[in-house]
Amino acid sequence: MTSFAELGLTEPLQRAVRAENYTTPTPIQLEAIPYLLKGRDLLGCAQTGTGKTAAFALPILQRLAGEERRAGPKACRALVLTPTRELAAQIETSFATYGRYLRVSRAVVFGGVGQNPQVRAMARGVDVLIATPGRLLDLMGQGFIRLDRLEVFVLDEADRMLDMGFIHDVRRVIRALPGRRQSLFFSATIPPEIAALAAGILSDPVRVGIRPVATTAERIEQSIMFVEKADKRPLLGRVLRDPAIERVLVFTRTKHGADRVVKQLASDGVAADAIHGNKSQGARTRALERFRSGAGRVLVATDIAARGIDVDGISHVINYDLPNVPESYVHRIGRTARAGRSGIAISFCGFEERPLLADIERLMSRHLTVIPDHPFASPAKPAPPTVFHTGRTPPKPRPFMIPVDAAFLSAGRSVPSSPPARVSRHAGNEARPTSGPGGRKSGHRDQSASRGRSQR
Ligand code: AMP
Repeated sequence: MTSFAELGLTEPLQRAVRAENYTTPTPIQLEAIPYLLKGRDLLGCAQTGTGKTAAFALPILQRLAGEERRAGPKACRALVLTPTRELAAQIETSFATYGRYLRVSRAVVFGGVGQNPQVRAMARGVDVLIATPGRLLDLMGQGFIRLDRLEVFVLDEADRMLDMGFIHDVRRVIRALPGRRQSLFFSATIPPEIAALAAGILSDPVRVGIRPVATTAERIEQSIMFVEKADKRPLLGRVLRDPAIERVLVFTRTKHGADRVVKQLASDGVAADAIHGNKSQGARTRALERFRSGAGRVLVATDIAARGIDVDGISHVINYDLPNVPESYVHRIGRTARAGRSGIAISFCGFEERPLLADIERLMSRHLTVIPDHPFASPAKPAPPTVFHTGRTPPKPRPFMIPVDAAFLSAGRSVPSSPPARVSRHAGNEARPTSGPGGRKSGHRDQSASRGRSQR
């Protein structure tokens, strides 16, 4: 089994991962790290939960620590662009953790909090800057951050950037980057707009595809409870009485719904926090901290807010409401069963949610196990089992489906399991031939495409 040492990481980084009890690299780490250490660009089809952060943070730390260069005032040597504040904060923590035995400075900038501490943190320049696009552009516009000294650029969760309507901001950031740089691009899905964006940023990238959906989903015990809408509240109270539920993430469809569930639980004597977009940054951070530390056992969240939650040891996920989009179900249940562990997902399904359940079952190609005997079981006649595609009509492709990256993987892939013998033409100091700042391939077409999606 390949170890971190065999991947070519230096001793201080090996020591840091040992301190985190990482014994073996995850698949994405195995595949990406040797290439990244050689300076290659990377296109990674992977989502959180795969060990993606260490896959890029470790080689970046090694590169930056290896050269005694200073970024200069207001500048950074590496930039990680990520869609949410929670992800930004978590990535910063990861850099701190993995870089604990190295002298690599860092700063994080995101909106929703005062800018002055961020401006001060950037005044002398840092090695690694982790940022969300809006605040970064804001501070760049005010002259507090410059990107012209950058060496490594990471675009994290590119598809989520698109979904959240940030793609235009991302392009503006990219236009400010120097042409000669190492670029890393991560996206859980590769729809056409994302492929076009990647093509404009990357030069001769290594392609790495990790499929957490199937593997994670297989480790999760998934069940469904049919319940009338009005009975969801007592059912939740009842389910939470189970002491096997050590740490649980409860999903609601709306922010208002999340607050209501927290209030209802409080009146039943169950302490819970809510995390969603209407909460102040301070409240979100506190709630997450309580949950992470184990002080809070129940966290109620909406899909967007939960996207960046990286908390180990979530034993259960409860879908209080089923998501409107079946792909969100996969993201939700993936919050449990992190880093190879198993987990349990329980979904409450009201009568009017049955079509949503069928969508989920079709996406997963499996029937969820029904728990029939519970005190609030719906009296409605059970729905007939979801019919999967017979093979005559091909299923409508969804962005999340693997065939997208099967095609993507077949292009120019090389040696997955051993370090590369070939050194990139970008490992040295040559200028990059086509992908200048902003990428020449960026254009109005993609911007209008992103507008179309974000309005949906
Ligand atoms: P990420 O995909 O970066 O969000 O990481 C998911 C989780 O896996 C985090 O909690 C990491 O601490 C953990 N992790 C990352 N790499 C390893 C590894 N090699 N062994 C065990 N856990 C890991």
